Amino acid sequence: MHVIVTGGAGFIGSALVRYLIAETDATVTVIDKLTYASNLNSLAPVKGSSRFNFVQEDICNGDEMRKIFAAVQPTYVMHLAAESHVDRSISGSEAFIQTNIMGTFRLLEATRAYIETCSAPHRDAFRFLHISTDEVFGSLSEDGAFDESTAYDPSSPYSASKAASDHLVRAWHRTYGLPVLVSNCSNNYGPYHFPEKLIPLMILNALEGQSLPIYGDGSQVRDWLYVDDHVRALWQIIRNGRPGQTYTVGGRNERTNLQVVETICDILDDVRPSDTPRRGLIEFVADRPGHDQRYAVDANKLETEMSWRANETFETGLNKTIAWYLENEPWWRPLRNSVYAGERLGLVSG
Ligand code: NAD
Repeated sequence: MHVIVTGGAGFIGSALVRYLIAETDATVTVIDKLTYASNLNSLAPVKGSSRFNFVQEDICNGDEMRKIFAAVQPTYVMHLAAESHVDRSISGSEAFIQTNIMGTFRLLEATRAYIETCSAPHRDAFRFLHISTDEVFGSLSEDGAFDESTAYDPSSPYSASKAASDHLVRAWHRTYGLPVLVSNCSNNYGPYHFPEKLIPLMILNALEGQSLPIYGDGSQVRDWLYVDDHVRALWQIIRNGRPGQTYTVGGRNERTNLQVVETICDILDDVRPSDTPRRGLIEFVADRPGHDQRYAVDANKLETEMSWRANETFETGLNKTIAWYLENEPWWRPLRNSVYAGERLGLVSG
């Protein structure tokens, strides 16, 4: 069993690779371009494994994708490589269009060429899982939740590019019969998360006594899922999901952004007391353009068909996450010093 993981040096991809090496017998080949969001230190726990391989390459390079597929002969392709930060997509959308749309197209074409060369049993076993987001569905009002039948309605350049890639993946199933699956997951959090995203940014700013900028009034609701729960869902979906199907994945952990930041402050005040309560660092700043008000995911299909459940509540997962950042300063300090220091991104001028 050989699994290709694209984007395996990123947040979720590296969690998936660590899981595959620790918990399965699979051999893993990571394909990653190593953008600013990647971190090879996130793969340090697996780099000594004889079942782990790494290729630095851009998924937009179709010729190289074909060569890698031919050499590796994957049973599964788990596609996570993407530009993933909404604020950066507002400031500059081109890389999102290139990687998320063109890159996915190149991988689908490489897959199509590859499975033509496979023996019948290998072709029958082959699966391509496209890892996507609940953001493709746009914004919910106070009630209801996204599920597999929700219509697409993306708001940001990021979510629009992911929506486009979802459509390509599905079209390649309907038109060419590729055995693909799509998962649409809610907001992830956990260890090894690049500190431009809300939870790690707030943990590190709060730890350093810096201001905690909250977009708008902080009433936006997200459905948080601990990254290792997501990874277990992905492994179930690729092995047991039905080709052509979509699975929505979420933790049933809805919180407003303000609640998230307040909880981070309270946990840190407990485990690393400071002179004044850290809630005092909260600062309300200009809202994100096109900010979706609420996301919530109904994961009933995944829970029913595959008996998947999130192991972590938001409180247990957040405590683990904060403990990890406290113990792993050598992982995040260089990122804060030289990759992203916390400056505001994604405001539209004029
Ligand atoms: P991330 O930004 O942490 O990592 C993305 C990885 O992809 C990086 O290692 C980067 O170097 C690599 N990459 C980017 N462009 C590439 C290219 N052209 N060729 C090869 N590699 C490239 O992202 P993440 O948070 O781990 O998200 C992974 C996937 O899961 C994405 O597809 C994202 O849309 C999806 N997703 C994320 C979340 C979330 O909350 N983070 C939720 C649902 C779905």
